[in-house]
Amino acid sequence: MQEKTRRKSKEDKMAAVYDILIIGAGPGGVAAGYEAGQKGCSHIILEKGKRLFQGIINSYPKGKKVYPTIPKGEDKVFSVDGLMPPVERIPVGKYIKQVEAFTSLHKLNIRYQESYRNIQKSNGDFTVETEKNTYRAKKVILAFGSNIPNDLGIYGEAKTVARRLDNVSDYIGRTTLIIGGGNAAADVVAALSKEKREAGDTTHVYWGHIRKQFKINKNTARDLGEEILLGGQIKILQGAIPKIGEVDSEGIDRLYIHQSPEIQARDDVFMYQGMSFPMKNVIACVGTHGPSEIFNRLNLQQITCTGNICKIAREGEQLLLLTTGLETNRKGIYAIGGSISPSYMEVQSDGAIKEKKHPNLIYTAIKDAITVIDGIEL
Ligand SMILES: Cc1cc2nc3c(=O)[nH]c(=O)nc-3n(C[C@H](O)[C@H](O)[C@H](O)COP(=O)(O)OP(=O)(O)OC[C@H]3O[C@@H](n4cnc5c(N)ncnc54)[C@H](O)[C@@H]3O)c2cc1C
Repeated sequence: MQEKTRRKSKEDKMAAVYDILIIGAGPGGVAAGYEAGQKGCSHIILEKGKRLFQGIINSYPKGKKVYPTIPKGEDKVFSVDGLMPPVERIPVGKYIKQVEAFTSLHKLNIRYQESYRNIQKSNGDFTVETEKNTYRAKKVILAFGSNIPNDLGIYGEAKTVARRLDNVSDYIGRTTLIIGGGNAAADVVAALSKEKREAGDTTHVYWGHIRKQFKINKNTARDLGEEILLGGQIKILQGAIPKIGEVDSEGIDRLYIHQSPEIQARDDVFMYQGMSFPMKNVIACVGTHGPSEIFNRLNLQQITCTGNICKIAREGEQLLLLTTGLETNRKGIYAIGGSISPSYMEVQSDGAIKEKKHPNLIYTAIKDAITVIDGIEL
């Protein structure tokens, strides 16, 4: 009986075709969901994090005040009132509470911890796959921002983090390895150690960096030092080199990391001692990259900048090609907000292509969302 119900609910999910599917619940995605509702269109927002505005939670320093900045030459009002940061500049936590109240008032349909993997077109609709589900929609809006964490480039389920870890408690009871030598890695190490310490968990947090020196600012170093003095189980691995993954006898993907210098035993044989962690216990904080790689994967047309064409982007950079309504070359797929900042290529009404300035601001992401939804014909 239970199995039947489960099958039925999966079929229901498969059968629903949303008018608009939005990827990312930041300012752009939330504004798009709201405006879709105002227009009487069904919508779903897929957010890879655990919370609304996860991108902002992950990238703003704690307590940072949010500015309602409006770019020069734009209307002096936000396109969606309820999403405007107040002029008195409130801290980010308070702003997120304001937005949470707004989304529940307007009954936005958001699914958390759903990271999209692929978008395909079949029978006139788009099929969007996440790790957990498959969704169908008539139109897709890419609102995933600009902060895409770099991959380790090794197979397995290592987590990649841009700035802050949003599922800290999942690592309780697991010896964890954080890789990376900057502030993001240091913040994750300190946060994880604190969570474990407060839960009475004695498993270690290993922090490995390929170089001997870590590059972190004074405040981050102070927080980390405090955590160590309070009894955090942090072990530092300087000059630690991650090697290609291995699979153990139970079929678990693992990451092998070694510190000792390689000894060339003879000819082309090397020996080194190291440690091996289950890949699912590894967190990589190895920088971020722009969304160009994702656009390529989705077969969205990008134009390479040359000195004559681009003023904002540098020579050789790839810029997404969009219509004035922010539609990509794949009809029905749109891109908005941080994902197309600080500039993109616009196809103008006379067919000419020009670099278009696009400041990465909350205001701009919201305005883009309204432009797209208002221009969509279903
Ligand atoms: C430190 C800092 C301070 C800033 N201060 C201000 C300020 O005071 N005022 C201002 O106007 N602007 C400020 N900005 C800029 C502003 O935050 C951005 O312009 C805005 O967040 C862009 O909104 P967005 O919706 O396009 O992207 P984001 O806010 O980045 O939202 C994208 C969302 O998509 C999700 N996502 C990513 N990948 C996937 C995936 N594969 N599947 C599903 N979901 C995914 C992310 O988790 C995130 O929640 C600041 C930026 C930074 C970094």
